[in-house]
Amino acid sequence: MTLIIVGICLLELLLVLGGGYRLMNSRTVQIAGRLVDRVDTAEKVVALTFDDGPTGEADADAMLQTLADRDVRATFYLNGNGIERFPGVAARLVDAGHELGNHTWSHPRMILLPPSEIARQVSATDRLIRQAGYEGEITFRPPYGKKLLTLPLYLAATQRTTVTWDVAADSEDSASSAEDLAAATVANTRPGSIILLHPWYGRSATQQAIGMIIDDLHRQGYRFVTVSELIDG
Ligand SMILES: [Zn+2]
Repeated sequence: MTLIIVGICLLELLLVLGGGYRLMNSRTVQIAGRLVDRVDTAEKVVALTFDDGPTGEADADAMLQTLADRDVRATFYLNGNGIERFPGVAARLVDAGHELGNHTWSHPRMILLPPSEIARQVSATDRLIRQAGYEGEITFRPPYGKKLLTLPLYLAATQRTTVTWDVAADSEDSASSAEDLAAATVANTRPGSIILLHPWYGRSATQQAIGMIIDDLHRQGYRFVTVSELIDG
């Protein structure tokens, strides 16, 4: 068993060195397990997903009010270390009817890590998601979308679905206005889209864009569901 693990790690290192970048960063291809970046449907239905955090009550207030005003439920891919710091915020998200997903414990690039560390990053975060009161299926989103061999094999062995995205307008260092962010997001959205935003860490432009995106897509006849609802159709 140890030899197999060492072999897989070595193979992963060779893939990284040998130009496995496209596979590592692909939003649509993964060597094992189920990967979803969007859903094929003619119905005007989309999922809003918010990555990282939780980072505190003020950020949660801004998002939860916007979503509640519009009766929209979203999916939050949280970090375990954020939930550990703000367990009450995670519980508020659950109480408001939102879906929680797993975005690892401390947001590392999930490549070239020993299998034991991959397992810890995922399972410890799952545990806190359950403690926050979330009872639905927990899907997984890799930080920076990065996965190669060890992570997909672990996710497949533990029957987890990996969820990426097909619409992302705000990169980590984005300085766009709320209006530009909303316009770019809406322009790229189509039926079955999974939209990624980063509204934590006091990113007020992204927080403001959430309401604009919802209002614009509502006007176009779109409905918002959680990731699990989108996948289950
Ligand atoms: Zn992230």
